Amino acid sequence: TTNDSKESETSSDKLIGGLLTADFEEGSCLSRYHKSFLYRKPSPYKPSEYLVSKLRSYEMLHKRCGPGTKAYKEATENLVHDEIHGNKSVGDECRYIVWIAGYGLGNQILTLASVFLYALLTERIILVDQTKDIADLLCEPFPGTSWLLPPDFPLMKQIDGYNKGHPRCYGTMLNDHTINSTSIPTHLYLHNLHDSRDEDKMFFCQQDQDLINKVPWLIIKSNVYFVPSLWFNPTYLPELTKLFPQKDTVFHHLSRYLLHPTNQVWGMVTRYYHAHLSRPDERLGIQIRVFRKDAGYFQHVMDQVIACTQREKLLPELATQEESRFNESNIPKLKAVLVTSLYPEYSDNLKNMYWERPSSTGEVIEVYQPSGERFQQTDKKIHDQKALAEIYLLSLTDNIVTSARSTFGYVAYSLGGLKPWLLYQPTDLITPDPPCVRSTSMEPCYLTPPSHGCEADWGKNSGKIVPFLKHCEDIMYGGLKLY
Ligand code: GDP
Repeated sequence: TTNDSKESETSSDKLIGGLLTADFEEGSCLSRYHKSFLYRKPSPYKPSEYLVSKLRSYEMLHKRCGPGTKAYKEATENLVHDEIHGNKSVGDECRYIVWIAGYGLGNQILTLASVFLYALLTERIILVDQTKDIADLLCEPFPGTSWLLPPDFPLMKQIDGYNKGHPRCYGTMLNDHTINSTSIPTHLYLHNLHDSRDEDKMFFCQQDQDLINKVPWLIIKSNVYFVPSLWFNPTYLPELTKLFPQKDTVFHHLSRYLLHPTNQVWGMVTRYYHAHLSRPDERLGIQIRVFRKDAGYFQHVMDQVIACTQREKLLPELATQEESRFNESNIPKLKAVLVTSLYPEYSDNLKNMYWERPSSTGEVIEVYQPSGERFQQTDKKIHDQKALAEIYLLSLTDNIVTSARSTFGYVAYSLGGLKPWLLYQPTDLITPDPPCVRSTSMEPCYLTPPSHGCEADWGKNSGKIVPFLKHCEDIMYGGLKLY
């Protein structure tokens, strides 16, 4: 190859097949154009040309409507009115959706991607609440503008007060019959949490959208990956299929487009990677999340991790003494295991296990765990930065084992383009049998989807409405996932 074509190869690699815009200055956010080949094999999943062109037009729209523009100023001034007056045309004006930060980092990232996809589909601008530490975690994703909601946003004072019972809550207004197409409110609150009613969750259905589309400002609180449900709206279906011809790549592409760790977090990722993960022949990620009131170290969870990884041949068994003659003439294969957990005991045990006894394959197993924070401390800056760094490090492994229903794990495997082995959630103190299942999709699970599809599908099992949406492997019932 000539130098020219080499250069264009690396630059298209740098922009992930056109997924990223070249319009940013590099130093302000080193992770954005990082030399990905240093850290991972190129993703086999290419973004569609349609997705690439849609992202470029979104960036233009965001620049035209974003904070600091005349359009933004006018749109916020209109918020002093409760309703849109007269027969003002809404077609040319900018419309917005404000994402409010809440819950753990995995939840936040999944909802950011969901809200962004909804914004793409409905030609709204996404703005993110920066009162928590999001700006210390992620770089700006759109060039020449900002996605941070300005602190003087007129509804800022009441942002914490939005909940199910709020008079501007869409589901509540539907139930109370306080909303109809004759009076369009200037803003609506969408409540899309685990405790939402179908009325809240199904805001994306076409009959709801006919009205919601006219509302200039939407405020959304969410802690779920609601992307799968968007496919229930037949109007979105052709567009979604064009954007994502490979249906289980939605979060993979959106996360690589949106999630660029800040230089501080990126430093944590790259230092750790070069210290421990770059030289071994193979890398295995294991994320251990314990959902219990008395969460901590449990023997049945440790046993489960060992049972899963050995049964699936991700880690070797231990050798009996006789087999263990070390072949001095061969340099042994090195396998690094990156464990992430709030509890350091899991990796300590694994480390000892492979130190005290040889492995049956002769491989040398090195075990690392970056942090063991003991308990969740969401919104504490350095804690959240460690969590993001660890999610990112997990995404750089070759194989990954994650805990059932953990959004932390969902982000890691999907960002990495990895189909995970999912550790079933134990009941009581018993190691599940089988201990884990290989997922056939790298998409996150929508843990609490609506009970049915849009209108016509009332009463129909939501896992049977469209062929590529199925129940998730890692929870007993209800979850929905793209395959
Ligand atoms: P989920 O609760 O497992 O769905 O994941 P979330 O990320 O939404 O919330 C869990 C939070 O607990 C994380 O954001 C971290 O703050 C913390 N946490 C849980 N597991 C880990 C871990 O393995 N490493 C680190 N650094 N933090 C963790």
